[in-house]
Amino acid sequence: MPPEKLHWAHLFREVVTSGLCTGCAGCVVACPYDVLGYDDRSWRPFHVDADGGAEDCTHGVRGCTLCTRACPRFGDWEPEVDRHVHGRTRAEDEPAGPWREVSLVRAADPELVAAGQDGGAVTALLVWALESGLVDAALLSYVEGDGTSWKAVPGVARTRADVLAAAGSRYTYSANTLAYADAIAAGAERVALVGMSCQASVPPVMAARKAGKVARRLTLSIGLLCSKTFDDAIFPDLFEARYGIPRASIAKINIKGRFQIWTRDGGYHEVPLKEGHAWTREGCLACPDFAAEHADLSTGGIGAFEDWTLVVVRTARGAEALEGALAAGALERRPVEDDPGVLDLLARLSRASRRRWPEGPPQAPRHFLAPPRAAASR
Ligand SMILES: Cc1cc2nc3c(=O)[nH]c(=O)nc-3n(C[C@H](O)[C@H](O)[C@H](O)COP(=O)(O)OP(=O)(O)OC[C@H]3O[C@@H](n4cnc5c(N)ncnc54)[C@H](O)[C@@H]3O)c2cc1C
Ligand code: SF4
Ligand code: SF4
Ligand code: SF4
Repeated sequence: MPPEKLHWAHLFREVVTSGLCTGCAGCVVACPYDVLGYDDRSWRPFHVDADGGAEDCTHGVRGCTLCTRACPRFGDWEPEVDRHVHGRTRAEDEPAGPWREVSLVRAADPELVAAGQDGGAVTALLVWALESGLVDAALLSYVEGDGTSWKAVPGVARTRADVLAAAGSRYTYSANTLAYADAIAAGAERVALVGMSCQASVPPVMAARKAGKVARRLTLSIGLLCSKTFDDAIFPDLFEARYGIPRASIAKINIKGRFQIWTRDGGYHEVPLKEGHAWTREGCLACPDFAAEHADLSTGGIGAFEDWTLVVVRTARGAEALEGALAAGALERRPVEDDPGVLDLLARLSRASRRRWPEGPPQAPRHFLAPPRAAASR
């Protein structure tokens, strides 16, 4: 049977309006005819000529399938991408996905540790990757304006200063994939993507389903462990209205079982995490991937140490990048055994996210490249 022609109308019905859409913008970046726009308030793709509706895309009717191929929530996405990245599907006892090794890592440069959310490992690795020529651009998240808006926006880094300006975590959504076009327009050929677990699945789903040229240039994917991101309204409606913390006064936010909020005047506040639940984005409520299972490197801040980043190496590319940065002296590493509880915690948090994926009949066996092959590990 020939592969089905699955296009925008299918994506709209089965992902965009079903509660599964993460807002990763993979479909938008993959669309070759500029049919799709992106609404950064609802974090949804839309057909620019259909007034938000499900109208067929004429290119889709004629056979273009790139948006469904690029979507890491369409069809039987998880096993397809598992096979592409890991050469096999995830076993039941691997809630956080397959990996090669896990360690605790931090930037060797104290300036980068101070700028980073946890150990500054992501920032230091990117600075090294750009300066050594491993990549020539990185798609990151910045804060709009002078930094007081806390509106996370995608952007491109090409220098140490660019990477430093993006360091730290914002807990609203930033579709960093959208910065791809700017990076390519400026001549980049090897691009690193940093993003939440859902975004980390974009490069491999595109590669697995042959969704055009984009994946060939996304040569390093650094995923951030993630259980949810919040609607921007959490700033006025929770932090300011209930706790008297205006957004412009906030210097840093972290989540360690509760919101930790440091203000520019030296103050420190805590807000129970469960109070933020009402501002969780819709796509996060159905998201099964806490641990960025399809990234080359997954990074997080769980565990006993505040100033070290937990780094999960998943692919040969990830191992090459981490070892290169360590050998160059850009990073320091210590064994994960130094934090005996952290792997159990990773498994527990991953299992909690796994329970969110909607139960239902098994996905229909639809394949883009019939029949599926066991692809080689990257
Ligand atoms: C929304 C969010 C939720 C997270 N939830 C968890 C969690 O539950 N448990 C856990 O262990 N870790 C979580 N993390 C990851 C953690 O906060 C750190 O990003 C990670 O440990 C790397 O630390 P670092 O010091 O090495 O990163 P840094 O060196 O500070 O680099 C962080 C990078 O993340 C990018 N970034 C920041 N905010 C965003 C955003 N909103 N969207 C996309 N990219 C962004 C920046 O561009 C920067 O390059 C989360 C991160 C984010 C952004
Ligand atoms: S079917 Fe093709 S042209 Fe139409 S929205 Fe999808 S990717 Fe774009
Ligand atoms: S999950 Fe990502 S690729 Fe899929 S429809 Fe939503 S924005 Fe597009
Ligand atoms: S929980 Fe995190 S990884 Fe999952 S959809 Fe939300 S932002 Fe993306």
